Amino acid sequence: MTQAITISQIILDPSCMDDYDPNAMSVLKARQFIKQYLTPVQQTESIALRTSLGRILSADILSPANVPNYDNSAMDGYAFNADDVAADTATKLKVIGTVYAGKSFDSALKSGECVRIMTGGMMPISANTVAMQERVMVEGDHIILTEAPKRGMNVRYAGEDLQQGQRVLAAGHLMRAADLGLIASLGIAEVLVCRKLKVAFFSTGDELAGVGDVLKTGQVYDSNRYTLYGMLSRMGVEIIDMGAIADAPALLESTLLAAASQADVVITSGGVSVGEADYMKLLLAKHGQVMFWKIAMKPGRPLAYGKIQTGDNKAAHYFGLPGNPVAVMVTFYQFVREALLVLMGQANPPPLPMFKVECTEKIKKMTGRTEFQRGVLFADSDGTWKVKPTGSQGSAILSSMSLANCFIVLDESVGNLDAGSLVTIQLLDGIV
Ligand code: AMP
Ligand code: MG
Repeated sequence: MTQAITISQIILDPSCMDDYDPNAMSVLKARQFIKQYLTPVQQTESIALRTSLGRILSADILSPANVPNYDNSAMDGYAFNADDVAADTATKLKVIGTVYAGKSFDSALKSGECVRIMTGGMMPISANTVAMQERVMVEGDHIILTEAPKRGMNVRYAGEDLQQGQRVLAAGHLMRAADLGLIASLGIAEVLVCRKLKVAFFSTGDELAGVGDVLKTGQVYDSNRYTLYGMLSRMGVEIIDMGAIADAPALLESTLLAAASQADVVITSGGVSVGEADYMKLLLAKHGQVMFWKIAMKPGRPLAYGKIQTGDNKAAHYFGLPGNPVAVMVTFYQFVREALLVLMGQANPPPLPMFKVECTEKIKKMTGRTEFQRGVLFADSDGTWKVKPTGSQGSAILSSMSLANCFIVLDESVGNLDAGSLVTIQLLDGIV
């Protein structure tokens, strides 16, 4: 899909886009729609290697040298020239010294000589093979090889891991623990990363009470701001919490504008379902271009995406998530997470792995929509990993998300399933 059509055009004339029906969007189509309007942040900063964990590289990392830098031994043993060793007979070699890791051995080996060498020790000139110490017999200052070694055995060659000039990590790479080590192994102390994405969020609803307050009749505690805080923190974005806002147009408007002017992305929860959506819908029409969708999914039917104008050429991305606590998490996970990764600088975030396992209970499911039921992946008594639904799947039952360690993803075409059926799961642990 190319970005030939603007959001405003789609809003004014939905038929301008083939196959676009805001009242029946598939999960996949909504994801594709959002993706075409996302451009990664452009600003970059140079930061200390350690602080780059979870950040996204804005430039390729090239290896400044060969890794390893010199040929060295992969074992504790004896280094020699394979040409000195007969292939079929036990060979006796004279041990003329020892090479420790971090030390070099300056004289070249002569025929019939070897050195004792430690793992990581630099190979002496003219040595090309290492015999493990367990494979030799020591007799005074000589060793006898008990098996014919293969030339080059147990040697780690210069450049074997990385060649000088080779691209080690590409721009757009999300930095993980291994990458910190990899870059450190090149001697690089600072890396260039995309600046942090700023995400502002607020809850909407007259019924919301703050934690610590005494609940009045008809009120519920504002839990969405806490799950959103948690999920956004895990993604490493800069968080701007704008609070819980009553369903009052003037307040909503000022909060929306304040959020959009400070942040790259604004996320709200509640107030986007049909019927009560009027305030947000009118406000968003006044200050930007936002598409309101009904997604063929459960939980999480209502979803809004678009842009809020904050200046002549400036706009913040907007995600209007449903109010129900499970729906907030599911829509964040299925739409917002990937979008944020793109905006953070990862042009093509790899899809979250999904795989099939047996479900130990029957599942109630309507065809025609994608369901993200909550499940617990567990090792059965025979060691096979299986999944069990968490129980009641209502979109307000947040305890289901706490119990779950995975989504059971049931496609539009799937209906009721018997116990023992294979289902697709998507792991949550470590991500939300
Ligand atoms: P809405 O989408 O605004 O109609 O909200 C749907 C449901 O989610 C209602 O039962 C709300 O009370 C509930 N809800 C909305 N926002 C929150 C929130 N921040 N925390 C907990 N529940 C909420
Ligand atoms: Mg509401």
